Amino acid sequence: TYAWFSQRAWVEIDLEALSHNIQQLVQFLSPGTQLMAVVKADAYGHGAVTVAQTAIQSGASWLGVATVPEAIQLREGGIQAPILILGATHTPEQIHAIAQWKLQPTLCSPKQALVFSDTLESMNYGSPVPVHIKLDTGMSRLGTNWQQAGEFVQLVQRLPHLSIASIYSHLATADDPDTTAMKEQHRRFEEAIAQIKAMGIQPPCLHLANSAAALTDRALHYDIVRVGLAVYGLYPAPHLQNAIDLKPVLQLKARVTQVKTIAPGTAVSYGHKFIAPRELRLAVVGIGYADGVPRNLSNKIQVLIRGQRVPQIGTITMDQLMLDVSAIPNIQEGEVVTLLGEQGKEKISAHDWAEQLNTISWEILCGFKHRLPRVAV
Ligand code: PLP
Repeated sequence: TYAWFSQRAWVEIDLEALSHNIQQLVQFLSPGTQLMAVVKADAYGHGAVTVAQTAIQSGASWLGVATVPEAIQLREGGIQAPILILGATHTPEQIHAIAQWKLQPTLCSPKQALVFSDTLESMNYGSPVPVHIKLDTGMSRLGTNWQQAGEFVQLVQRLPHLSIASIYSHLATADDPDTTAMKEQHRRFEEAIAQIKAMGIQPPCLHLANSAAALTDRALHYDIVRVGLAVYGLYPAPHLQNAIDLKPVLQLKARVTQVKTIAPGTAVSYGHKFIAPRELRLAVVGIGYADGVPRNLSNKIQVLIRGQRVPQIGTITMDQLMLDVSAIPNIQEGEVVTLLGEQGKEKISAHDWAEQLNTISWEILCGFKHRLPRVAV
């Protein structure tokens, strides 16, 4: 009879919404541009293998991850699509795994390129490894300064065991309505390409855009766009909401585990940060900060029950939080609460939480812990 306790809280992944988003993106892209679904950080908390499978089936051509273990997880899940590792890799173990699992690394510096070539030489590895050259055009994170693009590309081209699969850069301010800094990065990228071409090298494939850039300007699409957030159905910035129709993929749900009436003046949860202003019905819900509901949202959010918004009250604890459910008649233990998602006309999104916390929806999505089962619906 208490079977529902086995799923006190979970993340629902709507694969139709995911497929819809991929199709919307593919239709929106410039002719000839391919879509890379960025599935790092366990597909932004959505579950990497399931998301990657659906993304590829729905029209994505590439997958992007941050680390070698993330890529191996996809291969072990049976995924054969090309996988770009967006992070830096250096060690012999990483390079062996890249060759063995047919992964595609990012090369950020001449030094790293030499390490790769030497390590592959010592491995006696047969076919050349496709590598992606990373240029720093203004993010000041990974990559070689754009002004040295020509030299860098020439070096990699001459090294044995490596073949240049693409040249790319990453934008720092694509979600900003003021496009000045992004345009300067775009200009630097173009300048780097011109430099490379002037050396008689034809770049095989170019990419620059993340979600925000992809939705902002088709001139940024090049041969591939690397899209994360939009794949998951969220807009990277409010001013980009009209570009295409996206549907949120993730819903966060939990169950009511106990209901009680508390008297006026009763204090609720750690630190007694909420005092009941009147008699109220309190529901305990089986989800907390150890599941990825940030404790700093305490007393700030609402959740959905039976299509109605109800306030969260008191400090959010590790495994549980409390609600004021006075507005819901005869609430039952075991009832489902939607913390993120839609019920009827009401909607609560990761953006809403992010705003409360002065952060971004990316961080909210990546915060959901493995204790929450990912349930595909
Ligand atoms: N490309 C690179 C190099 C990234 O690091 C990321 C994610 O941060 C993306 C693309 C995808 O970004 P977004 O989720 O904004 O589409």
